[in-house]
Amino acid sequence: MAGLITRFAPSPTGPLHLGHAFSALTAWDIARAEGGEFLLRIEDIDQPRCRPEYETGLKDDLQWLGLSWPEPAMRQSNRLPAYQAALERLTAMGQTYACTCTRADIRAALSAPQEGATPIGPDGPVYPGTCRHAGHPSRGAAIRLNMAAALAHLTAPLVITETGPLHPGRHSIDPDHLLTHVGDIVLARRDIGTSYHLAVVLDDAAQGVTLVTRGADLYEATPIHILLQRLLDLHHPAYHHHRLIRDDTGKRLAKRDDARALSKYRAEGLSPAAMRRLLGL
Ligand code: GLU
Repeated sequence: MAGLITRFAPSPTGPLHLGHAFSALTAWDIARAEGGEFLLRIEDIDQPRCRPEYETGLKDDLQWLGLSWPEPAMRQSNRLPAYQAALERLTAMGQTYACTCTRADIRAALSAPQEGATPIGPDGPVYPGTCRHAGHPSRGAAIRLNMAAALAHLTAPLVITETGPLHPGRHSIDPDHLLTHVGDIVLARRDIGTSYHLAVVLDDAAQGVTLVTRGADLYEATPIHILLQRLLDLHHPAYHHHRLIRDDTGKRLAKRDDARALSKYRAEGLSPAAMRRLLGL
């Protein structure tokens, strides 16, 4: 793939573990094999959970693995105006609304007898639409995508180009699935003014990413990203969702799983080559 640009996009909310090493090395190896570029992006929009020492630590870990990237790395906390501009654009297109529901409000609405079983989307139970026509002011509220309005805007099918081992090929996205099993997702949380979905789409576009490399846990979120790219007139990158590294009980590794922190393996004297073997690379 000529001019391939891929990336590793960790959040500095904990130490990097084996799963992160696998993700970063997978992206790096693809970039190397294709003569492309490997970028780092610091996903630090959730400021209260981010710590500078985790960021220093993750860069040390990546360098130890033999990875390098152009500095300064993109940092989401510097990009809030870009997120705001995109949000205003979607709002001007009539595709957003302000939502004042708390988690408890949503739980209560979903447990109402007439609701039936709620599908679980990439962000949890599909939002019941309580605030969709409430006309709340946006100040102090979360901003949601009006999925039905967004889908009505489409003039051509949405397609995912996947190059990863789990679902390779070109897959069309079913608009009905987006409506019923994804729904009115949050574009901007009230506390941070954006969301993972909006930020990741805008950042990948701003970094010129042509191949998004990440874990299979984000495969289900990809239709949202393709939709947002279309609404915002952005180029669609290809995707490579890789397998997840699991612990001995088959559970996916979590940030708090410090036992699998790369720094532990480093301290125990493991070499980067042995780390690759441990990961099956
Ligand atoms: N920041 C996300 C994470 O730490 C990755 C997002 C992505 O690669 O799209 O899991």
